[in-house]
Amino acid sequence: MSRERIFTRRDLLQKSAAFGALAVFGATAACKEAPKPLSCEDTTALSPPDMAIRTSLQYIDNSNQPGKQCSSCQQFIPAAPNACGSCKVVKGPINPGGYCKSFVAKPA
Ligand code: SF4
Repeated sequence: MSRERIFTRRDLLQKSAAFGALAVFGATAACKEAPKPLSCEDTTALSPPDMAIRTSLQYIDNSNQPGKQCSSCQQFIPAAPNACGSCKVVKGPINPGGYCKSFVAKPA
């Protein structure tokens, strides 16, 4: 074995272990930093009439109306935290951050 090699087998194993640990740490950190946004747009179980109401009231999963979102609407029925709720008017999964034309603010 030559002593003139840049990396010994031990160096290579140590660097590989350190790199592997960094890769696992980085992947874990990335998963914690970017939680998947809640999506309540699966309407495959809705009947055509229920879908027609949802469409005619222009339900959207992310409100574009400042201060108006399903979680602050009288019609909203919440579910578990970070889960889709439901609505007394619009059928199907409802995002707490969603909005439709039937919005009625909860009393203060
Ligand atoms: Fe959301 Fe519209 Fe239902 Fe109110 S009526 S909870 S704004 S979908």
